Amino acid sequence: MKIVVHIDEAAQWQAALAEALPQATVLTSEAPADERKDADYLAIWKAPAHLLQEQTQLKGIINLGAGVDYLLKTPGLPSDVPIVKLRDAGMGELMADYAFYGVLHFYRSMDRYSEQQQNATWKPQEVVEKSQWPVGVLGLGAIGSFVASALEQAGFPVLGWSRSPKQIRGVHCFHGDDGLSELLGQVQSLITILPDTAATQHILNAERLAQLPQGASVINPGRGSLIDEQALLEALGSGNQPGHLRGALLDVFQEEPLPTDNPLWQHPKVIVTPHMAAPTPLNDAIDQVIAYLHAFESGEKLSTINPEAGY
Ligand code: NDP
Repeated sequence: MKIVVHIDEAAQWQAALAEALPQATVLTSEAPADERKDADYLAIWKAPAHLLQEQTQLKGIINLGAGVDYLLKTPGLPSDVPIVKLRDAGMGELMADYAFYGVLHFYRSMDRYSEQQQNATWKPQEVVEKSQWPVGVLGLGAIGSFVASALEQAGFPVLGWSRSPKQIRGVHCFHGDDGLSELLGQVQSLITILPDTAATQHILNAERLAQLPQGASVINPGRGSLIDEQALLEALGSGNQPGHLRGALLDVFQEEPLPTDNPLWQHPKVIVTPHMAAPTPLNDAIDQVIAYLHAFESGEKLSTINPEAGY
């Protein structure tokens, strides 16, 4: 079995795979073209098109992350090769930390203290009960459902939304357009953990942002394409024109790295993080990659991605 790996720090992945699969030939994409071209499997993250185009006998592609948006847009992606992606693999916990940080930032008024500190104002803000701070989670997949459950266990009322109907203990689950409007109308903090697909493009547009209650906050570690950035800026308002929304914590953007002249960098109600919410943790992920390879080899039925749906 020949596996070619492409990801940052590929040498570490190569070493871990080679150790777990001593019979396999494990190469990185840095190997000479004639060695890497007849791979059985690609284990990749943001691979260059040529790595896909040069393959002749691929049996499977393992996407070393949760989002397949980049892979599906890569020219030369074969249509007849099954694709699997990492599911949770330790990312749920990292994402839950990020989401918690965002919810607590607004719930415990850290944004207001930061503003007060500018002019040495000593003024404790009211602390409402968690039961009065409903949190919305858009996307209830491997990561989103982990985040929703973690927030629910911490005491926040959690409302979730997905494409198909779901049942998650303690989480009020919605689906469909009406379900989305119902959810948006009730939440104090909204977390978007949807994939980037044709159907989710600008799902938070001006109209939907306006459906959030006055003073709600938005936390987006999903994908930049989910939010119309211009509509978000308008909803956040500016110094002399206070907006409908209280603030935003954003990890992902329409264009990454976020261009230095993008007004989100300077907006006082926005926290920008550089797409770091849930990097793929090698140790958790490697076990899943090995399990995928065994399953491919033994002809087991795998839960592959749906290229038409885009995730
Ligand atoms: P999954 O594929 O497991 O789940 C996707 C969820 O989104 C599912 O609940 C799905 O609904 C829902 N969904 C998809 N399309 C729609 C739609 N049109 N309307 C409503 N719901 C929809 O993904 P993960 O949970 O593993 O990851 C989610 C995303 O998080 C990734 O695609 C990636 O973009 C992002 N991510 C960001 C990271 C970061 O560091 N910033 C790290 C990891 C992931 P259903 O359940 O009905 O299929």
